[in-house]
Amino acid sequence: MHLESRVAIVTGSARGIGQAIATKLAEHGATTIINDLDGGGAEQTAAQIRARGGQATAIVADISQADEAKRLVDETMASYGRLDILVNNAGITRDSFLLRMSEEDWDRVLNTNLKGAFLCSRAAVRPMMKQGWGRIINISSVAGVMGNAGQANYAAAKAGLLGLTKTVAREFASRGITVNAIAPGFIDTEMTRPLSEAVKQEFLRLIPVGYAGSPEDVAQAVLFLASEEARYITGQVLHVDGGMLMA
Ligand code: NAP
Repeated sequence: MHLESRVAIVTGSARGIGQAIATKLAEHGATTIINDLDGGGAEQTAAQIRARGGQATAIVADISQADEAKRLVDETMASYGRLDILVNNAGITRDSFLLRMSEEDWDRVLNTNLKGAFLCSRAAVRPMMKQGWGRIINISSVAGVMGNAGQANYAAAKAGLLGLTKTVAREFASRGITVNAIAPGFIDTEMTRPLSEAVKQEFLRLIPVGYAGSPEDVAQAVLFLASEEARYITGQVLHVDGGMLMA
C-alpha cells in the first residue's frame, strides 16, 4: 500500500496505538504529524520515524479544544500544503461505576474521545474537500458497541464516535472522502496495563484467539482503510478484537 505524497495527522500518537499507527503510515510513505499533549513523547516518536527514513513532525495540541484542533490542521497545511488522512486516536479513560461517576469525569472523557474527533474532523474536511480525496479513521472501541460496566463515559463517547463516523461518511461520500471506525478490543498499551490481573484474565476469557492484541494489529487495519485500495469502503466499523465481538 503506497501512501507517498499523502499527509496524515494521527492524534494522541506519542505512544501506544497512535504511535504504532503513525509509524505504520510513515513506513508506507506518508508524511506524518505526531500530535499529542505530551511534547517530549511526540518529538521522540517523530525522531524515531525520521531515523528510519520516514517523514514526521510533532505538533503539540489539545484536540479537545476547538482552537487547538484548528491550529493542528492549520499548521499542517502551512507546512505541507495538504491533508489527506486524519486518524482520530487520542483517547482517555476515567473509569467508575455510574453512581460514583463525577460530572467532571464524564465531561473530560466526552470532550477528548468524542468532541475532539468532531473538532478535528470539522477542521480537516475543508482541505480534503478541495483535494477531492480524504480518509478519516476514528478509533472507537468494543466498549462503544457492547458497553462495559464502569465505563459509562467511555462507552458513550465511543458509541458516539460510531454515529459521527456514519454521518460524516454520508455527508462527504460524494467528495472522495471516506470515513470509517475501528473498534479495537483488548490491546496491550499503557491504557490497559494498570488493569488488575483478575480483570485482564476476565477479558482474555472473552477473546476467542486467546491473547491480547498489539498496537501493530490496529495499525495494520488503519493502513488498509487509509489506502487507495479501500476507496469503496465508507461508514463501516472494523472490529480488531481477536473475535471478542461477533455481530
Ligand atoms: P494511551 O497509551 O493512553 O495513548 C493515548 C494518547 O492520547 C496519549 O499519548 C495521550 O497523551 C493522548 N491524548 C490524550 N488526550 C489528548 C488530547 N486532548 N489531545 C491530544 N492527545 C491526547 O492509549 P491507547 O491504548 O494507545 O489508546 C489509543 C486509542 O485507542 C484511544 O482512543 C483508546 O480509547 C482506543 N482503544 C484502546 C484500547 C486498548 O485496549 N488499549 C481498546 C479500544 C480502544 P498524554 O499521555 O499526554 O495524556
